[in-house]
Amino acid sequence: MRENTIKRREIITHCPICSSESFNIRFKYPSNKKIISCLKCSHMYARPRLKFKFLKEIYSSKKYFVNPNERAFFNNYPKEEWRKEKFSWIFNRFFEFVKPVKGEQIKILDIGCAVGFAILAAKELGFECEGIDISKWAINYATKKYQLNVKECSVKDLSSDPNYHNKFDIILMFDIIEHLTDPITNLQAANKLLIDKGFLLITTPNLESICARLFGRRYEPLDPDLHLHYFTRNSLLLTLKKSGFTPIKTLLLPDYPISGKITKYLHLIFHLFFAKILNRIVFRLPQKLMYYILPYTVSPRFKDNEILIITRKIHNISFPKKKRE
Ligand SMILES: [Zn+2]
Repeated sequence: MRENTIKRREIITHCPICSSESFNIRFKYPSNKKIISCLKCSHMYARPRLKFKFLKEIYSSKKYFVNPNERAFFNNYPKEEWRKEKFSWIFNRFFEFVKPVKGEQIKILDIGCAVGFAILAAKELGFECEGIDISKWAINYATKKYQLNVKECSVKDLSSDPNYHNKFDIILMFDIIEHLTDPITNLQAANKLLIDKGFLLITTPNLESICARLFGRRYEPLDPDLHLHYFTRNSLLLTLKKSGFTPIKTLLLPDYPISGKITKYLHLIFHLFFAKILNRIVFRLPQKLMYYILPYTVSPRFKDNEILIITRKIHNISFPKKKRE
């Protein structure tokens, strides 16, 4: 069993963002899993971590998306509309300050599109949208259920085809960067696919959120099996710089949008007084029950649980870039 665990996992010796070897242990989990923090750039990452082959197996299975007994995509987000609503909210905020030229056809690529909720939201706004994902199951689902233009591949695979270079006006990476084994090379690949000055929109958990501070190691997005990276402001900016992007705007958002002011204030009051008590109660529940209750109660309703960063391609990247800092 132990040997099996070792073979499935790998220990990375250098920070995946700045290459430093020095770190602090931030959180410890069973089976010797840890989340560590780089002393140089403050990036947090999982160590050891599952090898890509095993991660791909997990994401390619139906179980990851629909198993009702475990933490699963559809279990956390039982109503598909939630996700679409979140992505529509992001697009609306984005187009508040980036006005598309009238009549111009905007081409969007969704990297890590899963079953295609972001593509559906983009299509409703009239944009042309393609998607890629390494999950065989999700791609089949998106193709069959929604007839979307999606394919099973990684961003590195796509960038090896010159037909896709400088093709897209906007690239989406929603809730995906924390899952990647190497964020910088993936972002460099995305850079190739964008037109000059094209936009890249990234969302990722905010480890500086109120809930992250309240929950500590039990904070829901802290998952050393699947979330390999936890970006701080500093490590995210460094990642973008190394991949040829410049940040334009940073927004904080809940895991899904809160509709209505009264609901918003009620939740705020509720959390101010009861979050600590709820934390104690909810995390003692059996896992199945916990993940059923959690989306409705504690974590996602704070409006700072995710970071949305809007970035722009500033120059073409010729990679691999071997320079060590
Ligand atoms: Zn680092």
